Amino acid sequence: MVKTRFAPSPTGYLHIGGVRTALFSWLYAKQKKGEFTLRIEDTDLERSTQESVQAILDGMAWLGLDYDKGPIYQTERFDRYKAVIQDLMDRGLAYYCYASPEELDEMREAQKARGDKPRYDGRYRDFDGTPPEGVKPVIRFKNPEDGDVVIDDLVKGRIVVANKELDDLVIARSDGTPTYNLTVVVDDMDMEMTHVIRGDDHINNTPRQINLYKALGAEPPKFAHIPMVLGEDGSRLSKRHGAVSVLQYKEDGFLPEALLNYLVRLGWSYKDQEIFTIQEMIDLFQLESVNASPSTFNMEKLLWINQQHIQMTDIDNLVKNLKPFMDQKGIDTEKGPELSHVANLLRERAKTLIEMADSAAYFYQDFTEFEAGAAKKHLRPVAEEPLRLVQKKFAELSDWKAGKIHEAVHQAAEELEIGMGKVGMPLRVAITGGGQSPSIDATAELIGQQKCVARIDLALQ
Ligand code: GLU
Repeated sequence: MVKTRFAPSPTGYLHIGGVRTALFSWLYAKQKKGEFTLRIEDTDLERSTQESVQAILDGMAWLGLDYDKGPIYQTERFDRYKAVIQDLMDRGLAYYCYASPEELDEMREAQKARGDKPRYDGRYRDFDGTPPEGVKPVIRFKNPEDGDVVIDDLVKGRIVVANKELDDLVIARSDGTPTYNLTVVVDDMDMEMTHVIRGDDHINNTPRQINLYKALGAEPPKFAHIPMVLGEDGSRLSKRHGAVSVLQYKEDGFLPEALLNYLVRLGWSYKDQEIFTIQEMIDLFQLESVNASPSTFNMEKLLWINQQHIQMTDIDNLVKNLKPFMDQKGIDTEKGPELSHVANLLRERAKTLIEMADSAAYFYQDFTEFEAGAAKKHLRPVAEEPLRLVQKKFAELSDWKAGKIHEAVHQAAEELEIGMGKVGMPLRVAITGGGQSPSIDATAELIGQQKCVARIDLALQ
């Protein structure tokens, strides 16, 4: 069975790049009817925070990235890591390294001065003298000295690294805590991961990790290293590019499936299809067609995809996602038209749920002022006659339905021998407060007869 995992370190926000890694792992497991695990890699006690763990859990929940196993916390597995480290020590595959940070700095400086790549030179690898006083050693893994490591990466293709290029990994810090490179291997081995899908910032760790698997007598999983997401200026995605917590996108009015659709398209394509439902992503996604070079984050595109999903999602889902924004704005949707009807009207235009909630206000709340630009253009002073006439017709209508409303507006224009716009626009400003709304007859129908008549009164004052 295919087993994948998402293994974030809770040292910051769950951001776009992380979510894309999670998504690819999740999709792959779903498609193969496999198992997806969430593992929190929290062994770096200094940098890990509970707040960050919570942001990861909340982000995954909002996006619907559910997991079959987990969350598993590495801090609960310290005994297991200790036992593995001890076993490597016992078998002569790991050793204490007493080099102090200053000594290592000196070593690297000297290497650089010679024009060599700085790397640990194995000075304590075969040490059997008396350890220096007062130094708490780290533990290093004895990387093989000969041969090559071959990675057949599912995204990057074949990568061959000579062992003599690799230095000896630190697997336990001087305080005894295990490092990422050790814990990730032990966990992926114990949890029988078949595919490790992760950011390509880990690619330099992979050959060393493969050697660790071998030392532990385990078959390494298959690897897929996903290229980074870059900002539009080509630099690594950071806060100013939108690499904020994924939950910020929730607050900004994105549908979770739209964000996932955007992320799946970042570096992956299927023919020239842009819009995917979650099920389509699961059915069509292929690791092998993930682009091996970095992709660029583009806010415009994300907004466009959000708009498409707002248009196509089923109305219950739309209402469920829109409602919190209405609540946030203090709009009581119990009093007024059904939110589903309003959402159905507004979904043609809105790029975000915030925009939708903003434009939904006039369906529920009266106003005392009109949007200045729109009022200047359409209301004053020219609109008195058409507004009075349309108001009269509205008041007389016995069947308050869009079709009838349309007829009333049309007749008013004919009687006054003016274009429809000369009636429709002032009417729009009068009943919605601004110059933009969905079709005026459908809008008026939902606002309601009495309210429309009253609002025209206000406009005429
Ligand atoms: N914990 C690592 C990180 O957050 C990921 C490790 C992995 O996927 O192998 O970068």
